[in-house]
Amino acid sequence: ESERLRLPPWLKTNIPTGSNYSRIRDQLRQLNLHTVCEEARCPNIGECWGGGKHGSATATIMLLGDTCTRGCRFCSVKTSRAPPPPDPSEPVNTAVAIAAWGLDYVVLTSVDRDDLPDGGSHHFAETVREIKHQNSNILVECLVPDFRGDLDAVKTIADSGLDVYAHNIETVESLTPYVRDRRAQYRQSLKVLNVAKEVNPDLITKSSIMLGLGETDEQVQQTLKDLQDVGVDCVTLGQYMQPTKRHLKVVEYVTPSKFQHWEEVGNSMGFLYTASGPLVRSSYKAGEFFIASILQ
Ligand code: SF4
Ligand code: SF4
Repeated sequence: ESERLRLPPWLKTNIPTGSNYSRIRDQLRQLNLHTVCEEARCPNIGECWGGGKHGSATATIMLLGDTCTRGCRFCSVKTSRAPPPPDPSEPVNTAVAIAAWGLDYVVLTSVDRDDLPDGGSHHFAETVREIKHQNSNILVECLVPDFRGDLDAVKTIADSGLDVYAHNIETVESLTPYVRDRRAQYRQSLKVLNVAKEVNPDLITKSSIMLGLGETDEQVQQTLKDLQDVGVDCVTLGQYMQPTKRHLKVVEYVTPSKFQHWEEVGNSMGFLYTASGPLVRSSYKAGEFFIASILQ
């Protein structure tokens, strides 16, 4: 086995603290919600749940179960060809819990459900409508699969009343077949982002790129350009972290100053916002960035 890179100091993270964070965590115990923030032990939990100077607490909720029909080589979610069917009461229960939680901005995401005829798109859309019904002030982002390029599914989400449509391109074009499940394709991801925007031009669209998988600067630059060309408004860039030994190795720990460089590139290209840093994840402080960019 070849050697593994050592973890650089900027990725050694501290334990989340803060009174807002603890309050939310205690409430969450009673709500029976599955957050990616907790399950992935995300290092940003203190910042996201605590809210920023605009007081916009953000969390990411998992819908449609914990078992994916795909197997991307960077992801540690468990895989099955036939996961259990979705819980029909999940949209209402999730909405009630989120309203009780007092979040300002919620990211709804899911595993890929290629086993379902609509990919789970109606389940997402219903959850959005229930949340808005509970409290129309809660901003809702859906971070959704590519739905195998099924444009009806994309339209179902784009017309559901959500505020932000997110789909992650994950990596540059040439690395896509090595990094993502073979059913995922770079051009297909661009297409669904494009269609979401066409269906509902009021939507903010968003995508995310992992760095450290062996991509070149030119390829990152090209990916940003491709995202811009399909009307994507916001981009995030973060370090790929190998979840277990069986997953893709980290080729490079990209330095904080390099991430800073990409943030400047994104800003100069005119994205509504670019969040770029070693620990940035696609939902990193999403509420905070969203509100700050609107207030600009
Ligand atoms: Fe993980 Fe998403 Fe890939 Fe499924 S589709 S394996 S949840 S990254
Ligand atoms: Fe949760 Fe995403 Fe923030 Fe991590 S970055 S704490 S997963 S909202």
